Amino acid sequence: MANFMDKLKAPLNIGHQEPTEIERVQQNMIQIEAEIQQKFTQLGSMFYRDNMNNDNLEESYKEVIELVKKLDENRKSFYAHKLRLEGNMMCMNCGEIIPYGSVYCSKCGKRANEKETP
Ligand SMILES: [Zn+2]
Repeated sequence: MANFMDKLKAPLNIGHQEPTEIERVQQNMIQIEAEIQQKFTQLGSMFYRDNMNNDNLEESYKEVIELVKKLDENRKSFYAHKLRLEGNMMCMNCGEIIPYGSVYCSKCGKRANEKETP
């Protein structure tokens, strides 16, 4: 039984040891890789926003942008479905979450299920 408890404690003891230089270097590499991935994601979001309606893009870019648009539509419809299951809906004008079936929005006062043209 004591042996079993020692095995449970073993991973915790590692934390008390000073990391070796190779562990520190590996940790720095992991951290930098994560930051690069984060910046790539940010760059992709910026590119998508700036080019989602750009018809003069190269086909390879267009393909990915169209795919993201479809995924975004799917996300919106899943979100609407989730709201419906919870008995709610989103105001088409201001985005407020209001009870499902509301005709007018309790926040902006406009018709909740159609976008008003400004
Ligand atoms: Zn509203």
